[in-house]
Amino acid sequence: MSFSDRNGKAQGLCLLGSTGSIGTQALAVAALFPDRLRVRALTAYANVERLVQQARRFRPACVAIGDVEKYATLREALAGTGIAVLAGAEGLCEAATRSDVDTVLAAVVGFAGLAPTLAAVRAGKKIALANKETLVVAGALVTELAERHGAVLLPVDSEHSAIFQCLLGEPKEAVETLVLTASGGPFRTRPKETFDAITRAEALCHPNWSMGHKITIDSATMMNKGLEVIEARWIFGLDGARIRVLVHPQSIVHSIVVFRDGSAKAQLGVPDMKVPIQYALTYPDRWPAPHPRVDWATLGRLDFEEPDLDKFPCLRLAFEALEHGGTAPAVLNAANEQAVALFLEERIRFTDIPRLIERALEALAARPDRLSFELLADADARARRRVQELHRLAVH
Ligand code: NAD
Ligand code: MG
Repeated sequence: MSFSDRNGKAQGLCLLGSTGSIGTQALAVAALFPDRLRVRALTAYANVERLVQQARRFRPACVAIGDVEKYATLREALAGTGIAVLAGAEGLCEAATRSDVDTVLAAVVGFAGLAPTLAAVRAGKKIALANKETLVVAGALVTELAERHGAVLLPVDSEHSAIFQCLLGEPKEAVETLVLTASGGPFRTRPKETFDAITRAEALCHPNWSMGHKITIDSATMMNKGLEVIEARWIFGLDGARIRVLVHPQSIVHSIVVFRDGSAKAQLGVPDMKVPIQYALTYPDRWPAPHPRVDWATLGRLDFEEPDLDKFPCLRLAFEALEHGGTAPAVLNAANEQAVALFLEERIRFTDIPRLIERALEALAARPDRLSFELLADADARARRRVQELHRLAVH
């Protein structure tokens, strides 16, 4: 394979959420290919120190900080470097739509990632999408706008990258089912009766992946898989009834596609997000890289089992929200973000997370005629408020 880009030009990157788990791994990938991947813009919420280190190393044209209070410190730290400094949600949108940016890695966590991702979609960028919440909240809107503006969405989430790879060269009508694999998280074998006592530290200890706090808790409740089911519905355009979840504790089979002739394809690899991140940046090519390989001879076994929806009600709630449609997935997502934040602050129990989400869904899920950004943002805000209220009144 030739090492020069298809059109001989380096790809300009904007990393939204560069200081996070996905963002830093994306920079590790960019560092492997300095001639082909040019970092043009970096953004973070509040971690000025890490953002400054990254900016000094990768020399982007601009950086943006979400927390406007940190703007002055960031500007001072980068004075004399020639790097433009932006701030606030508008700053992130400006970074994502620059003319020297070809590809935007959407790796902000949560609903906060929706606005800059939408801006990139409207600007017709290639989007390497890690921020699953964007599609959970606004899947219809994002995919419709992507089509209208010629933006390409490439999945970074390992399961969706796996399915995307399995589908290459296959007609859509040949697909019977998508099977998303799930590690099962740290509590797969823990008895349900002890779930009330789960601590923050226990929930943050994921067996196979090292990730940001929010997604680590989502993996422990299995809401992460629920969000991924909704994400898959929008990326691959299949309804929820044809998307299955299977627990696979080794996290080697990243997902499976079953076809109508009974054949199935899976994509396998060591659990390392640099692989799907790189693939989203290099598709349709594969660039040589030193990421770890599976040692097939010592792998031993691959296990699969049905998920326990009774033990992990968040997964059931996500399927129900997808089926309900309208604002239900946005309410599910916002209530989950708020409940996870409360759990991380050690103000609620692990088992309160699904209870609060279910109550928010019961009260707020609606089916309006059209889902605009404003309407979804309103549903998001109301669901957060509802969870805070329920918590204050201790009705969970
Ligand atoms: P993280 O918490 O490690 O990093 C989040 C990044 O977003 C940080 O750079 C932070 O500064 C920025 N950010 C947070 N809030 C912001 C706000 N309000 N405005 C602007 N920027 C903000 O999270 P992560 O684990 O890297 O996950 C990022 C996204 O990728 C999530 O949607 C997650 O579900 C998805 N994802 C992560 C992994 C993983 O292995 N970490 C795997 C698959 C998908
Ligand atoms: Mg995943």
